[in-house]
Amino acid sequence: MAARPDQHRDARARGVGIRAAGAELRGRCRGHRGPPGIPRYRSDGRSRSSATALHPAGGRSRPRPRPPAQPGPLDHPGPVRQGHTVTGATSKPTTSARPGTTVPEMGAAEFTGDLSPDALVLGIDVGGTTMKGEITDAAGLVYAAGVLETPKGEAAFDTMVALGDQLLADLTDAQRDLVARGAVIVPGIVDIARDMAVFSSNIGWRDVVIGDRFSEPWGMPVLFEHDVTVAGWAEWRFGAGQGVDDVCVLMLGTGISGTLSVGGRLVRSGYGQVGEYGHIPVRYPNGLRCACGNIGCVETVASGASVARAYAARTGRETRGAAEVFALLDTDPDAKAVIADAVDALADGLIGVVHAVCPRLVVLGGGLAGAGAALTEPLHQAISERLRLVPAPEVVVGRFGARAGLIGAARFARYGDLL
Ligand SMILES: [Zn+2]
Repeated sequence: MAARPDQHRDARARGVGIRAAGAELRGRCRGHRGPPGIPRYRSDGRSRSSATALHPAGGRSRPRPRPPAQPGPLDHPGPVRQGHTVTGATSKPTTSARPGTTVPEMGAAEFTGDLSPDALVLGIDVGGTTMKGEITDAAGLVYAAGVLETPKGEAAFDTMVALGDQLLADLTDAQRDLVARGAVIVPGIVDIARDMAVFSSNIGWRDVVIGDRFSEPWGMPVLFEHDVTVAGWAEWRFGAGQGVDDVCVLMLGTGISGTLSVGGRLVRSGYGQVGEYGHIPVRYPNGLRCACGNIGCVETVASGASVARAYAARTGRETRGAAEVFALLDTDPDAKAVIADAVDALADGLIGVVHAVCPRLVVLGGGLAGAGAALTEPLHQAISERLRLVPAPEVVVGRFGARAGLIGAARFARYGDLL
């Protein structure tokens, strides 16, 4: 169901900075079609040809792995080419991008997808406090970008629609005609089979059916996915894990989650989930109670919030977050002890994964990955110390940083699947 104009007014009243895009803009977008040759979409949002790509039996083989590419500028905010949103305007989304800089999409040549080469895609990455959106071309050039606050509850979905409206409105008519597909990624529990955002504890929605709430107002097929799934897929296929078939990507932030790829395939359960690495119990039964209800999960020791909390409990000194604790690593024995405990918990959690599937590479993403070698080196050592029969995986920092979700959403939209 599409958002109603009055819902947009509600959003403005909450101060999320949406201009009166509403029905007028959607009316303009509704009739828009992609360029000739772009397949029409099905009601589930996937194009016919990409739906074939969902199933290996459909005949499409996965591209062969390539050697890792050199780091590129993809982890920096992209540019806006023209017709961009403006920085600091309260009546429009603020942009995280700057005009005039190309963001190349390295490795894109192998992934042609089903869109025409000149097609544009719309990606939106929804976080607990803000949602970010971009319209990009196949080379990663950003044509429109914006950020809006994420309201609580199901209203967040109206704001996602409004952000997409705004991005499309920032394009010229000719550019808008090239926007062929979108992808929206959200946190929490997502059930793709039931086309539903099941639950988000941070934002507070439950059982929200997606249906045509994006595709109808934007006038194009729109894919919907779990944010960590897409961000981890992007780091594996196009980022630090590029060219390696067996990779575990951990997203270390306020919480901990991740993805696992084995034999060149992203591992997804029968329920569609990609794993809950932050909730592997490593301090059971004497650890702290986790938000999930269990005791001693990795997250209770090694998440950003837990590192900051442990340091405060140990020293009585509050910090602005785990990054500050990492900055004290060389001079503060308490910081060193807290981080050593976090590294131990991460290693304890990973050790079962390593024994089960022997990944060659562990990629660390999310905010804590900014610690770099201060985290990767001791984690690699801690894993190595725990192994006897299987080789220790290399531990590296992700390539895309905080942009992994947006880059993943754009790639997902372009290729139509998590290939
Ligand atoms: Zn837990």
